[in-house]
Amino acid sequence: MPGENLTRDEAHERAGLIRVDGYEVELDLRSAVRLDEPAFRSVTTVRFGCARPGESTFVDLIAPSVETVTLNGRELDPAEVFDGARITLDDLAATNELTVDARCAYSRTGEGLHRFADPEDGEVYLYTQYEPADSRRVFANFEQPDLKAPFTLTVTAPATWTVLGNGEQEGAAEPVGTDAATWRFVTTEPMSTYITAVVAGPYHVERDEYTREFTDGTRLRVPLGALCRRSLAKHFDADDIFTVTKQGLDFFHDHFDYPYPWGKYDQAFVPEYNIGAMENPGLVTFREEFVFRGKVTQSSYESRANVILHEMAHMWFGDLVTPKWWDDLWLKESFADFMGAFSQVEATRFTGGWITFANRRKAWAYRADQLPSTHPVTADIHDLQDAKLNFDGITYAKGASVLKQLVAYVGRDAFLEGSRRYFKRHAFGNTRLEDLLSVLAETSGRDMAAWSRAWLQTAGVNSLTPEALYDDAHGRIAELAVLQGASEDHPTLRPHRVAIGLYRRGASGALERYARAEADVAGERTVITELAGAERPELILVNDEDLTYCKVRFDETSLDTLRDHLGDLADPMARALVWSALWNLTRDGLLPAREYLGMLLRFAGRESDIGVLQMLHSWAHVALDHYAAPDWRSEGARLVAEGALRELRAAEPGSGHQLAWARFFASVAGSAEDLRLLSGLLDGGSVVDGLDVDQELRWAFLEPLVAEGVAGEAEVAAELARDDTASGKRHQVRCLAARPSAEVKAAAWHDVVETDTLSNALVEATIAGFAQPGQRELLAPYAPRYFEAIADVWASRSIEIGMAVVRGLFPEFQAHPGTLDAADAWLAGHADALAALRRLVAEGRDDLARALRAQECDAQAGA
Ligand SMILES: [Zn+2]
Repeated sequence: MPGENLTRDEAHERAGLIRVDGYEVELDLRSAVRLDEPAFRSVTTVRFGCARPGESTFVDLIAPSVETVTLNGRELDPAEVFDGARITLDDLAATNELTVDARCAYSRTGEGLHRFADPEDGEVYLYTQYEPADSRRVFANFEQPDLKAPFTLTVTAPATWTVLGNGEQEGAAEPVGTDAATWRFVTTEPMSTYITAVVAGPYHVERDEYTREFTDGTRLRVPLGALCRRSLAKHFDADDIFTVTKQGLDFFHDHFDYPYPWGKYDQAFVPEYNIGAMENPGLVTFREEFVFRGKVTQSSYESRANVILHEMAHMWFGDLVTPKWWDDLWLKESFADFMGAFSQVEATRFTGGWITFANRRKAWAYRADQLPSTHPVTADIHDLQDAKLNFDGITYAKGASVLKQLVAYVGRDAFLEGSRRYFKRHAFGNTRLEDLLSVLAETSGRDMAAWSRAWLQTAGVNSLTPEALYDDAHGRIAELAVLQGASEDHPTLRPHRVAIGLYRRGASGALERYARAEADVAGERTVITELAGAERPELILVNDEDLTYCKVRFDETSLDTLRDHLGDLADPMARALVWSALWNLTRDGLLPAREYLGMLLRFAGRESDIGVLQMLHSWAHVALDHYAAPDWRSEGARLVAEGALRELRAAEPGSGHQLAWARFFASVAGSAEDLRLLSGLLDGGSVVDGLDVDQELRWAFLEPLVAEGVAGEAEVAAELARDDTASGKRHQVRCLAARPSAEVKAAAWHDVVETDTLSNALVEATIAGFAQPGQRELLAPYAPRYFEAIADVWASRSIEIGMAVVRGLFPEFQAHPGTLDAADAWLAGHADALAALRRLVAEGRDDLARALRAQECDAQAGA
């Protein structure tokens, strides 16, 4: 579509020409309940100034049709001015009024105004999702973050619905005819288009409120709302959501010194949501999988709290003060990610938040930072497609890790004082990197330019390795140094503020820290003078306490100690860091996958942190499916399944650990005996003491049975009859696509690649079922077909679906040089393809090349 992919240059030029004074948006959503009705009416009136009268600009709108366009009282012919993505506006006046009356489409891909019909009760639910640029699918606007304006929203919808916007409702809904009503909302403070929002449908709503007295005697009252589909209401624990919400609001008011600026605070849990959540001011949307239908571990509650707090931090950082363009996306995402963990640890019951951050969040960053697509935290974002792919591990997790390192560098007080000044100085405005650095330089007195060059403006992750020399006479440390490394592609060495811990086993057998030093590491080799003379350690842990962002390496002695005593390491943060370091060694082909899995089977049963344990389970899958040498894979799978069953039986009845092991066991079960146990757990013939096989767990047990051909269509149909819900439907689709037959694979491929009828959620479910690691031969024919199909898929589908298909169907299980060659040939033959598509293919190729290197390392261990 011409003009759909707005560029930075175009946005810059438009921001120089116009100033937006306000929008009035009227949506008529009465047609939503008629599922064969594809569109709704959207009328926008926008008032805007023009710095150079007589010139032209354009307004963004992606819509099937436009009825009328009126500019300053002139009727423009839609056929002439509208090209499907933009409306051209010529001969502007100094002040302008534009009205666009359009028919906009209901979305099935989660982009724009998504429509979902609940299979359980037939109710229809709507919500919007816009970032980075999909509000133009719902109303005509200037779709770029630095053209902020106040919004006045009016919605007409079925009278029985709940309708919400960013602002509070103004007065009662007014009846329209017999069965509809019109809701009006107060005019908002100025905000960017991508964070405007509408939620409408027969949602279940719970209410509460947050109040706070300030020292000057003023009082803030924030009405709170929490919403989900009616059919999920029985599972909705709004109390816990409100508890975390209030704890977060307290924390941010304590530290930001800027009252919550958006009036009310609603949090809607919505169906078929593409991402975790979105920080729309006053109306945050979340994926409804955060409403737990079955038993989950504390790690899931922790994740949900983290997301609630991440989005809340955005109310200030992102919504109140907004990056000028998507280059500085990190300004809001890194900050929100850091603040999510920071506030969680200090204000909620989830005091282990930094462990999760070190182990889980940083793993995302390390992976992203070693892909060919890595980029500096401050990115170069040419257009909207680039922007879409930059919601990645660098922008979020590395950026947040770098902020954590910054707090260690400038101190917590200077960091928070810098934030306070930043909010006051730029409230309701847009900023760039320099604006943040200048307040931090003021409050810390440090040279932020050098820090920024090292950490924000260069890509790549350093490795830190300890090197100890011992005084033979006493066995004490003569000299302890930290060696810093970097990859050839990204050779920057950086200043790191690190803690170094020395550990040895005490009388109890526990591996404990007995000496620690904090130091600035810079350059290739840094001597840690504070630790000279310390007694000989069994384990040296650099980056103890996880202050910096690096790959931790070990010396030989330390690695030997871990092989035998990892489980004796008493401190949970130290263990999390060690697990992460071992995983990086495995990924880098420096530790054989079978050795990593061996340590995991030996020590994971002693891991007390449930989030770390679940991370280990997912790493075990990657190690087994991708990094194990092919001729050892089935033996490895047998050992892992045996180990998982052993831990499942040993876990405390009814505990989260038991649940995590049960899920893991099901995901690796392969032998006839394993599968009989799963069947038994489903039909009640077998029992694991304390394990409640609820509906979600039933699906988790059924999928491997289907993938192995032990269960089939009839069993899946019976399960859907037990669980005839939206969630059950997704599980059903996934299970059916997992069946081990060529016809099933062909049908799944057809449904996802060759037709456009499935919703985003069902595309995802189909892909998840299709791509089974145990079905390598069945999937082999789809490697060439993948490379034939993706250019057309990218051109013809929405970017969200395009990303799901190109990522999800990459032939990751065809790990041989031929697949690398095919990827290379595709890249060579598609030099002109959009950068975003090339990036996804290059990432898939890189993962595969890494897998082949790791397999080689593993094969040598078996030789
Ligand atoms: Zn965010």
